[in-house]
Amino acid sequence: MDSADDVSLILRQVKGIVKHWGEAGFVPPVLRKDIAALMKEASAGKSPSMQEVELKTARSSCNPVRYAEARAADLTSTDLTSLRRSVEGCVKCRLSEGRKHIVFGEGNPSARLVFVGEGPGRKEDETGRPFVGEAGSLLTKIIENGMRIRREDVYICNVVKCRPPDNRIPERDEMDACLPYLLAQLRAVRPEVICVLGQTAGRGLFGDSFRIGRVRGKWISYEGIPVMATYHPAYLLRNPKDKGIVWEDIKLVMAKLGLGGGDHDRS
Ligand code: SF4
Repeated sequence: MDSADDVSLILRQVKGIVKHWGEAGFVPPVLRKDIAALMKEASAGKSPSMQEVELKTARSSCNPVRYAEARAADLTSTDLTSLRRSVEGCVKCRLSEGRKHIVFGEGNPSARLVFVGEGPGRKEDETGRPFVGEAGSLLTKIIENGMRIRREDVYICNVVKCRPPDNRIPERDEMDACLPYLLAQLRAVRPEVICVLGQTAGRGLFGDSFRIGRVRGKWISYEGIPVMATYHPAYLLRNPKDKGIVWEDIKLVMAKLGLGGGDHDRS
């Protein structure tokens, strides 16, 4: 395959992603402009290099997935232990400055279900484990009392692996810097379903136009893996009236995994 074929293949793949995102309700218009520019260059006989295509199509802040993938070439391991080692000592973003522990993720390396949250809080930073604070207890209840599976049977991780100061929302460049680790984790576990917890985690994985209110309760996909987005447990602690909405989303996840439904104790 020559360079023009490579370019054409990449453009087709990117257009497919844009189409899919459009169907999910969040098309990034900037990305469309990038593709149009690349098409123009290609048809004018100027063959941009593979690297140029990767960077041009990925650089948009609306498209962090491809941006991160373009930078994740060295994270090809499908072994979570090796991946964990590759994160050790990471100083790729300013979140490294205040952390006590990197919170890589934990759970079954062959889990059928992966939960993706936003980032570690105080307790997670202290322990190096994801979702162990108050919001984590609620997530554990959702998994164990609601879904009736053990927490250790799923895999739980976050978009950023270090705690943002004062629990602020991770910034775009911090999420982009950390995203290769998450993408590598998802490639390693290759779950049947991903459950995205909250607006920030959704933005981290799908881009800034992600809106939890529009997307939750609907199946979207990441690399062919069905994705259900729902509200973050921390949001539920502040808005307990919305627990029923999350339970409806979780029931869709259970049905997709063939776990059956049920309205047993999920409090
Ligand atoms: S948040 Fe991620 S990218 Fe930033 S220092 Fe921590 S591990 Fe590295």
